[in-house]
Amino acid sequence: MKYAAVVESYEKLEAHTGRLAITETLAGLLKETPKEELPMLVYLTQGKLRPDYEGVELGIAEKYALRVLQVASGKPAEHVRKAYVESGDIGTAAQRLLGEGRQGALTSDSLTLKRVYDTFFVIAKTSGEGSIESKLKELASLIADATAEEAKYILRTAMGELRLGVADYTILDACAVALLGGKGHRKVLERAYNVSSDLGHVVELAAEKGLDGVKNIHVQVGKPIRPMLAERLPTAQGILDKMGGDVVMEYKLDGERAQIHKDGDKVQIFSRRLELITPTYPDVVEYTKKYVTSKKVILEGEVVAVNVETGEYLPFQELMHRRRKHGIAEMMKQYPVAVNFFDVMFSDGEDFTGKPYTQRRAELERIVKQNEFARLVPAQRTKSAEEIERYMEEAITQGGEGLMVKDPKAAYTAGARGFGWIKLKREYRSELTDTIDLVIVGAIHGRGRRAGVYGAYLLAAYDPRKDNFPTITKIGTGFSDEDLQAIPKLLKPYESEVKPPNVESILVPDVWYRPKIVIETIASEITLSPIYPAGLDSVRKGSGLALRFPKFTGKIRDEKGPDDATTVKEIVEMYRTQNKKIRE
Ligand code: AMP
Repeated sequence: MKYAAVVESYEKLEAHTGRLAITETLAGLLKETPKEELPMLVYLTQGKLRPDYEGVELGIAEKYALRVLQVASGKPAEHVRKAYVESGDIGTAAQRLLGEGRQGALTSDSLTLKRVYDTFFVIAKTSGEGSIESKLKELASLIADATAEEAKYILRTAMGELRLGVADYTILDACAVALLGGKGHRKVLERAYNVSSDLGHVVELAAEKGLDGVKNIHVQVGKPIRPMLAERLPTAQGILDKMGGDVVMEYKLDGERAQIHKDGDKVQIFSRRLELITPTYPDVVEYTKKYVTSKKVILEGEVVAVNVETGEYLPFQELMHRRRKHGIAEMMKQYPVAVNFFDVMFSDGEDFTGKPYTQRRAELERIVKQNEFARLVPAQRTKSAEEIERYMEEAITQGGEGLMVKDPKAAYTAGARGFGWIKLKREYRSELTDTIDLVIVGAIHGRGRRAGVYGAYLLAAYDPRKDNFPTITKIGTGFSDEDLQAIPKLLKPYESEVKPPNVESILVPDVWYRPKIVIETIASEITLSPIYPAGLDSVRKGSGLALRFPKFTGKIRDEKGPDDATTVKEIVEMYRTQNKKIRE
């Protein structure tokens, strides 16, 4: 197949705006292309060389593309740069410069689709010392043999700026028309694409083996599945109505989505965009090997930064430190994560994508040996809108973003946004600037490095009206090793076998303390919460207030007595101001 023929179709695609015309042109091009060259054509048309998950990147930087163009056109660097800036695109600049006085080849007998693709592939795979020079040599040799029109698309492709306006779904439509005899077969193609994420392979099979070949593409460990996506509805009742009155609520955690493929000892992790992110999370690889019992399995989970000693979820910003190429081992220690599984698509030889949520969750429960590093996302079944509201508050207090509500009957619909999952987020988020002084009323045993000392303290505000101390948060973050030694000593005299009568709490800590020691805290915000009684009913019936992502500032306020702690009324005020600020 001549590359000129491909370029001719690309020119037409660029000129069309209607989807129908685009599909027809593409279908024509697919028909014209020899079967064995179809994958190359499809990848190139997507602006890639291989499916994303293989991580084969072309990416020639702008300055190098300009240099190649300068050599090919024989024009001064300034001239080339000017043409580029004026046209705003490397392709148009190339077409102009090489067209002027016919600098480019007149015809391009030697330029085939295969040669262009193979050269790009070599460029992508060249690395190490001196690789830039050899990449540029390869690219220059293509341009030297290219007509002005061909050079336009070659350079655009090289820079990752093809922009033909052809969506993956349009390629599927064109494939149905050109290779399977009608648009009616688009659904089958779509399914094959959604479970394999490899468009070139799907089109090739359609050409070689027809409909049966495409139907034979199944979920396979090692090939990422295009992720199921959620719809959004504003109210709990709306979600219940949509799902027929019976739903499962899951915490919507704020981390990074990970699609994890395990085949014996081999574990691969794909991002939401299906790029390989295995090197970022060696810990998640270990946890999957150790704690997932199924030998061949595809799972999905949210990777979240955690406080190892308390098990608390930490804000998304903490996880961001892990997104880097170097020094991973160090970051792994500083920013530990837990993987929170929420789905399973394949397990021990069985495809689970067609099975209802309840069966998939049951399988997850069967195959994950849960501990603090490998957990299942908290979930609860309900028929009540009120319970959804409460669970949402709980999720937010615990560091989640809101809820993901799931239809217990729904299958895993790969690659599609649908009402099988509906997200319910609260509409605001803010940063609290004031510090809050709170009284320690309890302690929870630590684990990991904090085994033997307390992992978290239960804190209360002061309510002058009732002269008592309603709890408002647990806190495990911000304590230095010295703090962890010093604070228990301070508290020791106030230990109590029973809940002190002037403390109000739903949570029961491992140890109670009579309210005495005051510490200073900061938090990301104040939220409604069903598990803390501070400010109960003052904003919403049945809900109290809680701190989200609380942190010890390092200050023990020994100049303050417990009744100098921040009052419930002040906290209700802070909650209202915070929300007013958000609305403004
Ligand atoms: P959004 O990005 O707002 O459309 O929300 C979807 C994302 O929420 C997914 O891609 C996951 O990364 C994340 N997520 C967190 N918890 C869950 C959960 N329990 N179920 C599904 N997705 C979740």
